[in-house]
Amino acid sequence: MSDAADRQQKPTPMDLALAEARAAEGRGEVPIGAVILSPAGEPIARAGNRTLELKDPTAHAELLAIRAACERLGSERLTGCDLYVTLEPCPMCAAAISFARIRRLYYGAADEKGGGVDHGPRIFSHPTCHHRPEVYGGIGESDAAAMLRAFFAARRA
Ligand SMILES: [Zn+2]
Repeated sequence: MSDAADRQQKPTPMDLALAEARAAEGRGEVPIGAVILSPAGEPIARAGNRTLELKDPTAHAELLAIRAACERLGSERLTGCDLYVTLEPCPMCAAAISFARIRRLYYGAADEKGGGVDHGPRIFSHPTCHHRPEVYGGIGESDAAAMLRAFFAARRA
């Protein structure tokens, strides 16, 4: 019962990721948002999709957040950092998450069609994947899934 009150006082990392997803939607992008926490648990980077704005098919929320966090920490590795994203990462982002040495991956909605973690190529289970983050799916799933459903329904209309 106090969960909602606590969340209003201090947004959870997934709340921050969902806010980034909403902001992306406001820019006409696919509503996906990501946040990276430092090993101490502080948000150090956040991003939403910007593929249209940047004319860059790799400008997914996770990649933009990883780039920003690396720049902030002055390192090409994010050892001990955790990444929150509203949708199961695609194969490209899953590979980048591995390269970045992210400690834990938390994602919202599963993506049966485009996901690369628990669906499709399952990047982290490949023998060529040398760093596997701990993976926790279904975090804040209903909000993330509802946002995506509304977005794609509006597109089809
Ligand atoms: Zn991606």
